[in-house]
Amino acid sequence: MTDRDYYEILGVNKSANGDEIKKSFRKLAMQYHPDRNPGDKEAEAKFKEINEAYEVLKDEQKRAAYDRYGHQAFANGMGGAGGNPFGGFDFNFGAGGFSDIFSQVFSDFMGGGQRRGSNYAQDGADIRYNMEITLEEAFLGVEKEIKIPSTQTCEKCHGHGTKDGKEAPICQHCQGRGRVQMQKGFFVVEQTCPHCQGHGRKATDVCPDCKGKGYLNQEKTLKVKIPFGVEDGTRMRIAGGGEAGIRGGENGDLYVFIGIKEHPLYTRDGANLYTRVPISMCCAALGGKVEIPAIDGEKLELSINAGSQNDQVVRLKNKGMTMMRSKGRGDLFVKIRVEIPVNLSAKQKELLEEFRAISKDDNCQPESKSFFDKIKDLFVA
Ligand SMILES: [Zn+2]
Ligand SMILES: [Zn+2]
Repeated sequence: MTDRDYYEILGVNKSANGDEIKKSFRKLAMQYHPDRNPGDKEAEAKFKEINEAYEVLKDEQKRAAYDRYGHQAFANGMGGAGGNPFGGFDFNFGAGGFSDIFSQVFSDFMGGGQRRGSNYAQDGADIRYNMEITLEEAFLGVEKEIKIPSTQTCEKCHGHGTKDGKEAPICQHCQGRGRVQMQKGFFVVEQTCPHCQGHGRKATDVCPDCKGKGYLNQEKTLKVKIPFGVEDGTRMRIAGGGEAGIRGGENGDLYVFIGIKEHPLYTRDGANLYTRVPISMCCAALGGKVEIPAIDGEKLELSINAGSQNDQVVRLKNKGMTMMRSKGRGDLFVKIRVEIPVNLSAKQKELLEEFRAISKDDNCQPESKSFFDKIKDLFVA
């Protein structure tokens, strides 16, 4: 990906409208198209840059994201610079992206007389894969093997579908245009060439492995490395991991969407974890210790201070989640829930009655005391 400003690349103002952007893009794309600059690496790089910029600026949503976050908005994958912390929108360079625009631009521009049929090389489609992982896996990071139904370029014919593995000869029926004109009454109608299905080229002898398709249906096994600290909804782009391009087209990309399963104990907010722990009335009053399992498997001993109240929160520093590309960890917040005893035995009741009797005018329940004092004041007034 380029780090140059997309508006600058397309030579338009930040306030340019869709038509202006399109016009400028077409002009530049025409100028730097590889077919017009064979062997010119600089033109090729420029061409790629122009496409990248246009992919973003032509789309309202992506353009808005770019205006807000700059290139950060589309930093792809993990491990690369940035990641995508904004997880809120789709960003697909893909089939139907520039290959489509190009066939269109070129038939507009060249009147359909180009060497290649308009859709000879086809880029492979992008694939989306939803992956669910546990919070523990998100904590540690995990490598998963995934199987995806996909297509693989036929190796025997290098994707050309021809017996000799070379580019198929130009279709004689349409002279490589991929389209033919037919006289229908007074009108000349143009339609997709039925001999080459619009590819502009047609194999005389087809590849026996793929029967001329140029690809094979195949389940693909990929190893995907999920980094520690990954968040729910993160998208990972694996360039070239999508469906195979046909007849020299580029492979699509694989997008892995990470979903994190609900955890029985913890909820998560960014790097912090939250949980509730029930303690007995006596433990709350007298103080004590409770053991809770941390997300890393460690046993945490939580000290309860004497006089702890319901809903009080204890913060355990650095016991939360890991963070992507960081050595730090979030915190763990434990909310205390004081459980009032039920199903008391006679002896327990007796002791509690005794406790009540000696606690009457005591200052052991300050909140109740202040509450009843206020009520007293109200009655007097
Ligand atoms: Zn044809
Ligand atoms: Zn083949």
